[in-house]
Amino acid sequence: MPELPEVETIRAQLAPRLTGAVVVGIEIADPLIVAGDDPAAFAATVCGRTVTEIVRRGKYLLIVLDSGDALALHLRMTGRLHWRPGPAGPGEERFLRATITFGNGSTVTFGDARRFGRMWIIPGGTPMEPYWRGRVGFEPLARDFTAKRLARLLAGRTASIKATLLNQAIVAGLGNMYVDESLFAAGLHPRRAAGSLSPAEVRRLHRAIRDRLRVAIDAGGASIDTYRDGLGRPGRMQTLLRVHLHEGQPCPRCGTIIVKDVVAQRGTYWCPHCQPDPSGTVPPERSRRPRRIRHEVAA
Ligand SMILES: [Zn+2]
Repeated sequence: MPELPEVETIRAQLAPRLTGAVVVGIEIADPLIVAGDDPAAFAATVCGRTVTEIVRRGKYLLIVLDSGDALALHLRMTGRLHWRPGPAGPGEERFLRATITFGNGSTVTFGDARRFGRMWIIPGGTPMEPYWRGRVGFEPLARDFTAKRLARLLAGRTASIKATLLNQAIVAGLGNMYVDESLFAAGLHPRRAAGSLSPAEVRRLHRAIRDRLRVAIDAGGASIDTYRDGLGRPGRMQTLLRVHLHEGQPCPRCGTIIVKDVVAQRGTYWCPHCQPDPSGTVPPERSRRPRRIRHEVAA
């Protein structure tokens, strides 16, 4: 599932190609993809408008228009945005849900096998701070996300550090993969209670989160299942993962076999040696449906 680095990769690719371009057409192949609005009203709001900028907030992508409105997108599980210099050929996008055509002849297709992805309009003049509050927390790569800030966010929390970092309203954009990788890099057991981390551990975690996200953005994201970047290419981060999906393989740091268990209702990977299980750990939960991993729905 696309997380912050994957959405940021797409944003960085679309921004120079679409900024200043006029939306000349939008074709909705699957009305389910448009959240809230009537698809015809949605299309009318977008058509004829010029793209002024493309911004990311957590795992959300906003195509800001000269009307002040923003076309918001969330790719959820399997959504893909693919920019092409011209129209997509027949059958090129297997799970086509929508196509946006621009005045320069280029197109962006929104494909989605599982159909959880959505787009909608955020009307111009919407105060964005209240809009994001409760939906999206601090941006982990922003200047104001300091180790002190992270310490304040974790203080007093009894939930596991894994569950806490997955909570989009606390820190934005981290999903199952980058939480596993960050906790490994910080040497923290995923079941540690978030509020039990020492100041030194919080500093390690802060550094680990930012480092893993930056490495992943540099690698163009991770293509472990359906993710492709904004130009239809796979990322390279999947080859740089150290514990996530590595169950039964030796830890790259110490050689201990990496284990997998359900934490925060997600399949979670860690090294039992590098990420010891001290007191303060949240006890293993009993999953009612142990074979299924619950889908994360960010909004
Ligand atoms: Zn290890």
